Amino acid sequence: MEKQLPSYLTEKNGELWLTEDERDNLKISYRIKNVIYSGQSMFQHVMILDSYDFGRMLVLDGVVQTTAMDGSIYNEMISHVPLSIHPNPQKVLIIGGGDCGVAREVCKYSTVTNIDMVEIDELVVKVCKKYLPEVSGNLSDPRVNFIYDDGVAFAKRKEQEYDLIIVDSSDPVGPATALFEKSFYQSLHRALKDDGLMVCQSQSPIFHMNVLKQSYNRIRDLFKEVSMYTAVVPTYPGGLWSFTIGSKQFVHPDSAKVQDKETYYVNDELIQRCFILPQFMKEQLNIK
Ligand code: SAM
Repeated sequence: MEKQLPSYLTEKNGELWLTEDERDNLKISYRIKNVIYSGQSMFQHVMILDSYDFGRMLVLDGVVQTTAMDGSIYNEMISHVPLSIHPNPQKVLIIGGGDCGVAREVCKYSTVTNIDMVEIDELVVKVCKKYLPEVSGNLSDPRVNFIYDDGVAFAKRKEQEYDLIIVDSSDPVGPATALFEKSFYQSLHRALKDDGLMVCQSQSPIFHMNVLKQSYNRIRDLFKEVSMYTAVVPTYPGGLWSFTIGSKQFVHPDSAKVQDKETYYVNDELIQRCFILPQFMKEQLNIK
């Protein structure tokens, strides 16, 4: 583990603060109790910090990815919503998701026989399993195949293989930029079975409307069905966060349920209501 602190971790009056640069005129700071891990991989700077208000958190290149406090909101919403749409999900591909929180949720489904988790950075998986059990749950389910590869290259090689693909990417900078491209969504479409569906995180409706619209429109152009839903994730910029589903066949049924799954945030009413979009989003997306 490195000794020297990166520029986004500063000490002021004996207090340690992580300052996330959101955009030109917005920075968000978290008071930190301890640096649990700090190291550089081939792809990014990886830290596990223990914060006062959010507990342990995974930070990549200075950006908070998930926390013990609100990680389950995001991880449950990106997993259980699409899993409640597909009537018999068996083979699942997760792209990104190095904190293991999504794989942990998918493992709650007994129909699922196989989960390929393609994460570019092995260090993220290693440190989250060791130091962030609140999110990773020390994941060791034999159905999960950990594959350390670029999700774009991996998806390109697949055809008609998956029932569900979950893109749990970081923001569209560095290695994750290509995970928002049209050619990547085309690979996902080809990698899915004839009745398969995909979901991706499509950024903040408050701060990233261009990225959100671009993802939604690209997915709408490729898939028979497109839908967007939201959740509030306190550590993501703007709080309100969006997810986009592209489906070859199944639409969200009124009867969709998470049934008997043990969850912190998601329940049967919520997976129905999350598709109700605020007016400004409907207008931006041309939804009547
Ligand atoms: N839930 C988080 C969020 O919305 O910010 C993201 C969680 S997860 C930690 C994101 C992961 O995507 C990171 O571990 C990163 O290494 C991985 N990643 C980025 N680009 C990738 C790529 N091209 N292929 C596979 N994984 C990638």
